[in-house]
Amino acid sequence: MDDRVLIFDTTLRDGEQSAGVGMTVEEKLEIARQLERLNVDVIEAGFPISSPGDFEAVQTIAREVRKPIIAALAHANAKAVERAAEALKDAAHARIHVFISSSDQHILHQLRKNREEVVEMAAKNVALARKHTDDVEFSPMDSSRTEKEFLAHMVRATVAAGATTINIPDTVGYAIPEEFADLISYLREQVPELGESVRLSVHCHDDLGMSVANSLAAVKAGARQVEGCINGLGERAGNAALEEVIMALRTRADYFGVDTQVDTKQLYATSRMISQISGFAVQPNKAVIGRNAFRHASGIHQDGLLKERTTYEIMDPHDVGVPRSELVLGKLSGRHGLNARLQELGYSPTDDELGSIYEAFKELADKKREVTDRDLIALMGHERMAVAETYTLDAVQVSCGSNAVATATVQLTDKDGGQHTEAATGTGPVDAIYCAINRIVNVPNELTEFSVNSVTEGIDAIGEVSIRIEQDGREYVGRGADTDIIVASARAYMNALNRLLAMGDVTRSPEAVGAV
Ligand code: MN
Repeated sequence: MDDRVLIFDTTLRDGEQSAGVGMTVEEKLEIARQLERLNVDVIEAGFPISSPGDFEAVQTIAREVRKPIIAALAHANAKAVERAAEALKDAAHARIHVFISSSDQHILHQLRKNREEVVEMAAKNVALARKHTDDVEFSPMDSSRTEKEFLAHMVRATVAAGATTINIPDTVGYAIPEEFADLISYLREQVPELGESVRLSVHCHDDLGMSVANSLAAVKAGARQVEGCINGLGERAGNAALEEVIMALRTRADYFGVDTQVDTKQLYATSRMISQISGFAVQPNKAVIGRNAFRHASGIHQDGLLKERTTYEIMDPHDVGVPRSELVLGKLSGRHGLNARLQELGYSPTDDELGSIYEAFKELADKKREVTDRDLIALMGHERMAVAETYTLDAVQVSCGSNAVATATVQLTDKDGGQHTEAATGTGPVDAIYCAINRIVNVPNELTEFSVNSVTEGIDAIGEVSIRIEQDGREYVGRGADTDIIVASARAYMNALNRLLAMGDVTRSPEAVGAV
């Protein structure tokens, strides 16, 4: 049997579907390029029938990202399959991913069909997808709650219709590792093509915190593709965190006897980028890529570690791309040195990007003696969060403190060059700034989240502000970074407002109900 496990990343489809993640096409392309550097095998770029924005994202990624397979999701109906095929038309390697519900809960309540009708729809549309590409994946949605005889029947029918990958999703995060492994073994017995001419895949959700364990148990039972998202992003409690799956397979190769072709040194940079773009912070104690994942607080551990790294570390932080914080750039480091360091961190900035990053870097180096890798990653993230600016922040000034009414003055320039100045009072400095900005921009919205994090240690650290605003049920993420958290707060709000103004009306069609 094949000893390579394919990694199928669905950050741009299942991850993007999760509450509050709205990404622009440019941001999705940026993530797709990073996933290509990470060397994943498959990128699921979107669900083309669900919205014009999804269609455009899949089409753009299919044209620009040439090495991995680009997959697009489609319901088992002709219109959705044709739309997916159209979005993938220019891909170097295109995969259409067809899905339909297989559990009675879904068939009876959501589809209102009988079982045989559903099998027929599945097979018919797999065959239709095969007319467009040789690479067709089929997923019986809610597999883990499906009667297994019926599941095997549906899998057999879609394999006969031409599916080249069969994906078994634990859509609602219901499975238990042993039980899920048994299901995979059962299907392999029932449908001998699985694991041979047809690749067997799994897609697990984390509702009970077992998505990674379920994925790994499935690999042990013969699955050779794992679907998930970096940082475990995704619907509800999220998908299986791919960085954990990848490092478990790598670190415990002695047990699993398989590997992936992922360049694990890109994991940290990928995680940071996705966290910045999605606005979902990574918890410090998160396995593999959390800030504390390789920190040792206990004295005994530190002592052991200094004598021999492997006493308390099962993975080398270098292997997952954790930046070495000793490496610092200073005021005198040139553009060339900056570029070299960014390349080492996994970025390939364009000339334009490098130009504006260099400006930001010099400004930061003036305020802060040492610029660390984490600072650079924050600057890159800020650069790449850039959206078309309807308004630009020119200046912000606040007076506040105890026994004072917080008062802010802001100055913005609109895209036609018009200058606007406003002042406002508020309950605190941030409130005052946001009130002053609102007087100029005048777009009703509600602030739903606000957080400040320091990028590095030290009193002169960059503060990174992450916010979410909501308008008509849609959320927009904004980020800003500066050594002054008041300025960072103003930037984050402008970033979110500009995103809201740029993305405008991107509603999803009601047809986008449900997904694997
Ligand atoms: Mn899913």
